[in-house]
Amino acid sequence: MKTTPLRIDRLVAGGVIPGYFCTSGCRHCLYRSGPWRGKGFLEAGPAEELFRRARSLGCRSLHIGGGEPLLQPAGVEALLAAARRAGVGIDYLETNAAWFRDEPSAVELFGRLRRGGLRAVLVSISPFHNEFIPFRKTQGAIAAAERAGLSVFPWVADFIPELEALGTDRPHGLAEFAARFGEDYLARIPGRCWIHPGGRALDTFRPLLGRKRLAHVLEESPPSCGRELGDTRHFHLDLHGNYIPGLCAGLAIAAADLGAPLPPERYPLITTLAASGIRGLFAFAQREAGFAPAHDRWWNRCDLCEAIRRFLFEQGWDRSRELAPEGFYRSRSPACEPPSPSS
Ligand code: SF4
Repeated sequence: MKTTPLRIDRLVAGGVIPGYFCTSGCRHCLYRSGPWRGKGFLEAGPAEELFRRARSLGCRSLHIGGGEPLLQPAGVEALLAAARRAGVGIDYLETNAAWFRDEPSAVELFGRLRRGGLRAVLVSISPFHNEFIPFRKTQGAIAAAERAGLSVFPWVADFIPELEALGTDRPHGLAEFAARFGEDYLARIPGRCWIHPGGRALDTFRPLLGRKRLAHVLEESPPSCGRELGDTRHFHLDLHGNYIPGLCAGLAIAAADLGAPLPPERYPLITTLAASGIRGLFAFAQREAGFAPAHDRWWNRCDLCEAIRRFLFEQGWDRSRELAPEGFYRSRSPACEPPSPSS
């Protein structure tokens, strides 16, 4: 099959993922972060290299995401210092507030980060986060960030009335949301906020939204995924030195390979997707590994794409380093059980 090398020369906007560990395990998490992921955290030296790499490709500021970065506050301080040395700004830090204990300690933490160069935080707010994190912690983190002089971006503020109505002192499972706000509560969420069809969101929403037959998905999909793979408006660089193309979580390009055409022999999956889209990947997986779908209810092409990649990973298909990080493919949703209600 003829494949077209993909070349990523210029980075527009993105972030670093310093680690995938998180005490929650939200059902919509694109990167399949959670308590079962390793606790590794991007260290200052490699971070500075990644920041310099991003800067050399035109990106002068990044955000810090995760995983939950503030479970390792000293690590975040080191990242801020590394960004300063590399001449890269930090747009904002994402946090889910699970670490929050009380306002004075949170103000002190945010104050330290502000002195390190942080200016804004994005605080996660959703029913998925609320399965693990009492909303009083989220509220406390927001108040503390504001007191420390940081700008706060509550994402998604539209859910606040529901979280307050259910009570702020303990987590609430999705069944409680459905009982209070309607049985179709979960199905309505993609209409209220952006849910990307990838990672754990596939497991959560496929039973509700996966209505397409394989032939339909193959037929309706564009002839190439080059636009998505080459989109650098929301890229990520992770602690393993991976560049995650577009929003295609579970695919990886070595940061060192950016800026030049990707060799098809080292990136057979990504270059196949760029050249011939999901139809090309499906044919490739059939030919190379005998892929046969385990079901026939798909959400869309990205749902099928991740299933094919997971199949290849589980088959031990290791001709490339594109199926990374490993933890993405090793973590499944059955481990994603909400904790018993507690603070
Ligand atoms: S089908 Fe795969 S490569 Fe294409 S946009 Fe979806 S996740 Fe990315």
